[in-house]
Amino acid sequence: MKKLKRLLKRFFLLIILIVVVVLAYHTITFSSQQIKVEQVPEIEVSDKVVGRLAQAIQIPTISYPTHIDTAAFVRFNEYLDNNFEVINSQLEKTTINEYSHIYKWQGKNTLLKPILFMAHIDVVPIEAESRGEWTTDPFSGKVLDDYLYGRGSIDDKLCLVGALEAIDMLIQEGYRPERTVYLAFGHDEEVSGYNGATTIANYFKQKYIKFEYILDEGSLVTEGNMPGLNRPLGLIGIAEKGYVTLTLTARTHGGHSSMPPAQTTIGVLSKAITTLEAEPMPATFKGPTRLMFDYAGPETNIPMRVVLANRWLFGKILKKQLSEKSTANALIRTTTAATMIDGGVKENVLPTHASAKINFRIHPQNTIEDVANYVKKTINDDRIRIDIDQKGQNPSKISDHKAFGFQVIQRTLQETFEDAVVAPSLVVAATDSRHFVDLADNTYRFMPVILNNEELKGFHGVNERISIDNYKQAIRFYYRLIRNSCQ
Ligand SMILES: [Zn+2]
Repeated sequence: MKKLKRLLKRFFLLIILIVVVVLAYHTITFSSQQIKVEQVPEIEVSDKVVGRLAQAIQIPTISYPTHIDTAAFVRFNEYLDNNFEVINSQLEKTTINEYSHIYKWQGKNTLLKPILFMAHIDVVPIEAESRGEWTTDPFSGKVLDDYLYGRGSIDDKLCLVGALEAIDMLIQEGYRPERTVYLAFGHDEEVSGYNGATTIANYFKQKYIKFEYILDEGSLVTEGNMPGLNRPLGLIGIAEKGYVTLTLTARTHGGHSSMPPAQTTIGVLSKAITTLEAEPMPATFKGPTRLMFDYAGPETNIPMRVVLANRWLFGKILKKQLSEKSTANALIRTTTAATMIDGGVKENVLPTHASAKINFRIHPQNTIEDVANYVKKTINDDRIRIDIDQKGQNPSKISDHKAFGFQVIQRTLQETFEDAVVAPSLVVAATDSRHFVDLADNTYRFMPVILNNEELKGFHGVNERISIDNYKQAIRFYYRLIRNSCQ
């Protein structure tokens, strides 16, 4: 008996030893994916750029769900024509559907495929309830404590005017790119891009123009969001999630509310919704999420590196932890959000039907069909009809993280945001670039700014603002990216 015990003890010790060796091996071989970059010369950016972005912010180019304020967009056209003399003299401008614009900066070598930078002119409205919470008028373009305030100061006039400023500087220095550079500015991104980006994409298709890579808004550089990483993390979106809305309709017999059944139509529907919330679609570490960990993981502290290098062992715990934070949860699974509900006509009448809309943001590992099947199986209730909204869109294809475009963006990011760690990632919201899928093999989604969590709240929220330093860095990024891409 004693002998057997000793044998078992040795056996367990051996197992533990093997696990430790495997953990150590994976951790040691979890090698850095960062590029070694030389120190680059500092680029002087004039203070006058602040005024030009402020002017853009002062034009309230708002997209409302049903219409756009056309007068504001006319003013924005004038703004572009009157403010960028150098650009207007050197680049060819084409206006699409009155308010969207394409700029072409002809390169010297026509054998090289062009590149395209995208941005959008429109901004989201200011919620009436939150207007009072703004430190300054959302369309004043005011500078307070080295921050430029206003709707669009990040999303997305920063990218639009920032790219123009970079080209302006390059032209003034006498630079001419080898590769042709295009800019495309849509005017209705915030309401799906059907008049702007879609028409711009058709224009390029008709001209048989294909891009080496496309860069649109999307991920950015953040701090303090990756456990164990005490450096800024620059995420380059290589894919974006799809989305679909399902309408659940419950139907039962109505009647007088004085003699109700155990569960009314509303009860049936509510149960289905709570079931879907309690059982979200499974988390996955595949696709862009896997690459994000592969790139960021080796740069984290030792405990985190052991965990991320050994997802085969710690994957389950890691998924559970990430699921608890909504930002991280959105990166690892198709998310479920009940967004609208409707049912009942009077407080003493049992409703015969009730319906709810559930919005799903689809991870690249899933499709619209997977979502519909999952919902049907999970609810498992014949009293509920499931309708798929036709406006849904599957996730984008995944761009190559080894291709020229990714490498050059990574290099430029590391040159501009010193000490930043670069990783491919998944963009959880939709961008205009989804209309451009056929125009390039690789589309990347990155906004060249470093934002802390407080600043991030400004996205579509209150006190959207950008620090002057940050804005100048964005201009430097575009400046270097053009040079790095076009020599
Ligand atoms: Zn945007």
